[in-house]
Amino acid sequence: MTDIISVSGLSKSYGKKEIVHPLNFSVKKGEILVIIGPSGAGKSTLLRMLDIIEPASKGEITLFGEKVTKHSAHDLRNRMGMLFQKTVLFDRTVEENIALGLSYRNVSREERQKRVKTILEEMEMSEYARRSSRTLSGGEGQRISFARVLVTKPEILFLDEPTANLDPGATRLLEEMILHENRVNKTTIVITTHDQAQGQRLADRVAVMIDGTFVQVGPADEVFYHPANESVATFVGVQNIFTGVVRNGNAVFGGVVFCPAPRIPDGIVQIMLRAEDISLSKREIDAGHISVQGRVITSERSGAFLHITVEAGCIFTVVCPFRQTGDTYVSGDRVWIGWRTDAVHLV
Ligand code: ADP
Repeated sequence: MTDIISVSGLSKSYGKKEIVHPLNFSVKKGEILVIIGPSGAGKSTLLRMLDIIEPASKGEITLFGEKVTKHSAHDLRNRMGMLFQKTVLFDRTVEENIALGLSYRNVSREERQKRVKTILEEMEMSEYARRSSRTLSGGEGQRISFARVLVTKPEILFLDEPTANLDPGATRLLEEMILHENRVNKTTIVITTHDQAQGQRLADRVAVMIDGTFVQVGPADEVFYHPANESVATFVGVQNIFTGVVRNGNAVFGGVVFCPAPRIPDGIVQIMLRAEDISLSKREIDAGHISVQGRVITSERSGAFLHITVEAGCIFTVVCPFRQTGDTYVSGDRVWIGWRTDAVHLV
């Protein structure tokens, strides 16, 4: 696959403050790159530079093999589309709103009508055509905004927190449309989100952006299960992070042996274990697991899940489906916790 976006030394400063530090990366044709990171990390600023809405302070962007310059910018922009977090629809009908992107590109009236009709059919939203945009729900409005971008047949799509204002049902629908666009039309997609689960659902590759830098770039599973450092681990929701040691071939902290570490030299190690990878029981946990006994400190139900902290040499956070545990747990209960050694990630 060829690179469709390639960036070298790209940075952005506002005044004296560098918001995006020099970045080097590329995106392959047909790929979905998800940029995740906390709010204020510089994700939107980066996306706006890639879409050539915002000039870079330094560095170079190459799109479709052509360098972005004042001269090339207009034509390159016409091959891309951007969907923002905030839905912006004009007080007109749905079909007029969708046709707008085409009017700017001087597409004939007849062709505009044809393409608007087709896109509404593809999205199974034909019955919305004559509705006023004012009557749409948040999710419907965002899907129409997406249609307005897609109707221009962009080869690269930038999506800036596209579901941040949507409820879970509307989020799923838009995610399905995003995946459909990628799979059917092979459109390259770069999407920003602060929702790590969305990153996992959509990404071919994930880039974790913290404080204006890509801290880790890789396949979703690698980023979520093998975070490169503590700040990535915290962002991707690893709740048990301990600074322990490797001694005699084992990773140890607080008197607990977490896993064998035969290839790691003795010394300090970060031990990471996801809360949902820990099993909880009132009885000793099966062989095949590391199993330690402890005492419940706090127990709290959140929707379908139990969030429990257990003191067992150190303080563990455990998350398990409420209906699967079968038991109730209250502060002071003696319990067993256990995990598979391959669930432990050492840095
Ligand atoms: P994210 O999308 O990750 O939430 P942004 O790219 O929106 O982050 O913002 C990154 C930082 O840049 C923030 O601290 C924000 O206040 C600052 N910023 C964004 N746009 C401007 C601007 N036009 N002028 C000054 N600062 C800005």
